[in-house]
Order: sequence, then C-alpha cells, then structure tokens
Amino acid sequence: MEKFKDRYNRNLSYLRISVTDRCNLRCRYCVPLTPVTMLSHDDILHYEEVLRIVKVGVGHGIRKVRITGGEPLVRKGVCGFLAEINRIEGIEDISLTTNGVLLKEYIDEIKEAGVKRINISLDSLDRDNFLKITGRDNFEKVWEGIHLAVEKGFDPVKINMVVIKGLNDHEILNFAELSIHHPFHIRFIEYMPIGEAHVDKTQQLLTPETKKIVGSLGELVSVESGKNDGPAFRYKFKNGRGELGFISPISRHFCSRCNRLRLTANGMLRSCLLSDDQVDLKTHLRNGCTDEKISELFLESINHKQRKHHLEITEKQAVSTQMNAIGG
Ligand code: SAM
Repeated sequence: MEKFKDRYNRNLSYLRISVTDRCNLRCRYCVPLTPVTMLSHDDILHYEEVLRIVKVGVGHGIRKVRITGGEPLVRKGVCGFLAEINRIEGIEDISLTTNGVLLKEYIDEIKEAGVKRINISLDSLDRDNFLKITGRDNFEKVWEGIHLAVEKGFDPVKINMVVIKGLNDHEILNFAELSIHHPFHIRFIEYMPIGEAHVDKTQQLLTPETKKIVGSLGELVSVESGKNDGPAFRYKFKNGRGELGFISPISRHFCSRCNRLRLTANGMLRSCLLSDDQVDLKTHLRNGCTDEKISELFLESINHKQRKHHLEITEKQAVSTQMNAIGG
C-alpha cells in the first residue's frame, strides 16, 4: 500500500492519538480558567474505532504511536487500549504522555501493556508553584510517579517542562540539575500560543535564552538522536546521569523533519499541531465507511500539511482550538 508521504516529501510514520479532552489538571497555559465545554461520551471515538484507524494507518507506514489527551489516564480502559495498540502488527513504538497524577495507580498496567517510554509533564518542582500553575495540589503524586517509572524500568523517562516567563523560569536551573543526579531526560519546551490561555506571548521564553541559563551550570555535550527520537536538540552535562533537550517549535521550528499526524479525541485528523485545519474521520466511520475511505481521508489530511507552521513570533493567535482538545 502507498506510504503516507506529503507534498514536501516528508514520510509520515508517527500518529499521535488523543483519547480524551478531559484532564485532572487545569494548567493555566493549556486550558482557560473559565469553564470549558467538554466533549460528550458520544463525541469521543470508541477504542475500537481508533484501533481500526491505526490499523489502516499501519498499512500506509505508521510505525510509531503516542497516546495523549487531555489526560489519557483519566479515560477508563486506557491500559487495555494501549495493549491492543501494541498488539497491532507493524507498530514498532508506543509511548504515553501524561501529567503523572495517576501514574502510581496505573504504572504496572502501563508496563504490561508494552509501553516502554513515558513522557511526564511537570512544570514546577515546588509544591506551591505547581498548585499555582496547575490549579491542583498534586506535586507529590507526580513526583512519586516519576520515580516509580524509573524504578519500573521505563527508559527513558522524560520530564517535559514548558518554560514560561514569570511562572517557572526561575526553576530552569533546578530542572537542569535533576539531569545530573537522576537518569531523567529533561525537555525544555517553548510555550506555543494555542487557544485561550492565561499566559500570553510576552511570557514566551525561547530556547536560546533557556539554554544560556542551563549552560551556566556546566559544559553541555551534544547527544546524537536515535531513530525514534523527536525534534529535541539533545545534550548532557559531562557528569550527568540523565540528559537535557530543547524543543523549539518557535525559535527553530522542525517542520522540515515533521513526520507526525494527529487524531483528536473526537475523531478529527490533523496534519499540523499549529493549524486549525482538520479532516472529519468520525462522521465517515459512523456512517459505515470502508477502510479505503479511511485511507482517502488520511491522504486528504496529508495533502493539507503545510511546508511550515505559521506561528511566527509576531503573529497573534494562529490556532484557536485548545491544546487539551488536540492532544499536545
Ligand atoms: N495531560 C497530558 C500531559 O500533561 O502530558 C497530555 C496532554 S498535554 C496537552 C501534552 C503536553 O502539551 C504537555 O507537556 C503540556 O505541558 C504541553 N502543552 C500544553 N499547552 C501547551 C502550549 N500552549 N505550549 C507548549 N506546550 C503545551
């Protein structure tokens, strides 16, 4: 079957799947403080529907899947679903992005499901600041979850910190230091102005500045990226057990290397995180479409994939959909 390839010759082999728009945190840069309307149960794709979509994708070269949300661990049955994905012949890599609040409860099931790599989002190492950013007093739970993930042999355990001026930039060095004493892979991510949030563009701290702060701790040595690695520019401190990475969608976009497609919880295919463009898969699925039609819809989405995103530093708001609805 024809491999997914876009107009700019990029091979698309990576599908990020959001299984819910619901989340047990209220990160101020991700969701608005005003009440948000959540998708109804019927709006959300059933696991069987997602599995069917993945199987069609695998026929066209999808090899890597990441499960995200909302918070994926709040959706009932997600570990069974992870195991089903892992059983699909052709899937080479399955990973999970979580805020870590429920990690302790589910870590064994996640492992049994065949997930090897976990990304945990953590924006503060300080309990009060964690509460301020996320609206929930859950730092301890997340911290324990992170250590448990290492203990249980997940490798790597990545910690994603979205760096925001005035909110957590004073903690950059503390995060960087973690990579010296622990095997964590710390990822510093640039804030992207997506949807409505209580953070604005003036609070963006771009990678060059973050890297300068991190570099004050010691010499950074480059680390080569492997086959399944994402767009981070990777480094480590000479004496470090773990490593550091900078993800720079704004200051050094990686669109030319982008191999991603996204499936939202309500069954929309998106070929770029930073565009509102989407193709409705769910309606066709529920009208009894064939697998050929699913392939066609994938190709339609891929044909819309832009050469590069338009989230320029000077632009106001390029994406109106909330991050929790797309799946970061
Ligand atoms: N709940 C899960 C979690 O916290 O990892 C998965 C979904 S969350 C939307 C995925 C990632 O997107 C998190 O690391 C979060 O910090 C990041 N994120 C959310 N809004 C963002 C924004 N505006 N800019 C950059 N990263 C963002």
